[in-house]
Amino acid sequence: MDIKTAMLLWAVESLTLAVLLLAMWFRDRSMKVVLAWSFGFAAHGTGIALVGARGFVPDTLSIILGNQMMLFGIICWCAGMQLYDGKKLHAMLLLPLIIWLAAMQVHLINAQFWTRVLVFQLCGSICYGMLGYLMLRASAPPRGPRRIFAGVCALQAGTMLVTALRSPIVRPQNFTELPNVTLYTVIGIFCLVSGILLGAQLLMARGEERLRQLVITDPLTGVLNRRGFLEKFDDMRQRPPAGKLMLALAIFDLDHFKDINDRFGHVCGDAVLLAFCHLAQEQIGNRGIFGRLGGEEFAGLLHVASTEEAVELTESIRLALQRLPIPTGSNLPAISATVSAGLTAAPLMTAGIDQLLAVADRALYAAKSAGRNSTVLDDGMTIAVVSGQELRPADSQTVTPFPAQTLTA
Ligand code: GH3
Ligand code: MG
Ligand code: MG
Repeated sequence: MDIKTAMLLWAVESLTLAVLLLAMWFRDRSMKVVLAWSFGFAAHGTGIALVGARGFVPDTLSIILGNQMMLFGIICWCAGMQLYDGKKLHAMLLLPLIIWLAAMQVHLINAQFWTRVLVFQLCGSICYGMLGYLMLRASAPPRGPRRIFAGVCALQAGTMLVTALRSPIVRPQNFTELPNVTLYTVIGIFCLVSGILLGAQLLMARGEERLRQLVITDPLTGVLNRRGFLEKFDDMRQRPPAGKLMLALAIFDLDHFKDINDRFGHVCGDAVLLAFCHLAQEQIGNRGIFGRLGGEEFAGLLHVASTEEAVELTESIRLALQRLPIPTGSNLPAISATVSAGLTAAPLMTAGIDQLLAVADRALYAAKSAGRNSTVLDDGMTIAVVSGQELRPADSQTVTPFPAQTLTA
């Protein structure tokens, strides 16, 4: 098979992949990476087809546009990797394309095959170097396949660099005289195939990650659901911040929530749930995790240095809800809600989730019996109602009003 036939086959393969990826993107348009890769294969395939059709299409199309599209294709793959890793697209990615276009303005380079090979291979080498670098830079999984593909990119970049450097020595006049042409083709195919395999793995990993997120997230409020909350317990126990040697568990249950639903409607009840989650997460910040155990019952797992700190944080959440006017609709007055909390704490070394949940639940029951809108601490030995006007520190905290537009989410 001659090199031109190989190029045309390669182009068909690339364009087929571009169509497949485009169809995938139409099914899930949030995956911008898929669109970028689709553009990449479309541009690369068109570029190869144009270069391979040398003699059948005008030289400007084949030489300038063809090579430009091939480079642009690799740049799109790089852009896709940046999108995949949640990074901003960097203008530096366009550098090889700019070098190529600038070189094509110089007649001395433009007019000869070997000088064009020199510049194109150099630009291609930079492109694959960038792709390899982007593979290695991110810490997101799958790490192993990323490293392997980075190695393949380095091999491709190396081959292109060697071809570029040998070009002034060999001075090829056409494709058949290109230096290292067999090696170059084999490595190119190897790179393409491993790139496709890695791309598939990256997309599968992202799909699994999204599924996993769905499985541990409460759809209404966006906080952790019971499963997610319980799963994070071991992590919390094993990674305490400096000086925080206790784990506190607070269970919150909205007071008379059924009445809120009955009086103002279910949508309004949902708004209260959202508002409470928003303020609780704001108060807890990076001091712990917060989740919905079910219905109108929530829990916060907190890294604390003492039970006093746990009480203060739990109270800050209770008081913040009590003070928060919750909008119910454009022409309707805001309503207020209260919450009761059962709190317990244990040293990190001995803390177990089942035990903490059982004790905090008992404390919550006591808080309801104590008249609601209160916090009860059960440290395993004594049960005490700790809420009251004397807990001023929590009062002095400010809470950002819950944004009304998210109430219908
Ligand atoms: P208490 O002060 O004793 O906790 O009384 P309560 O009314 O809050 O408790 P109860 O268990 O009687 O009612 C809980 C209500 O929460 C009943 C249920 O319809 C409502 N609920 C559960 N999940 C949701 C939800 O996702 N949205 C809304 N709007 N209501 C919910
Ligand atoms: Mg309730
Ligand atoms: Mg309840």
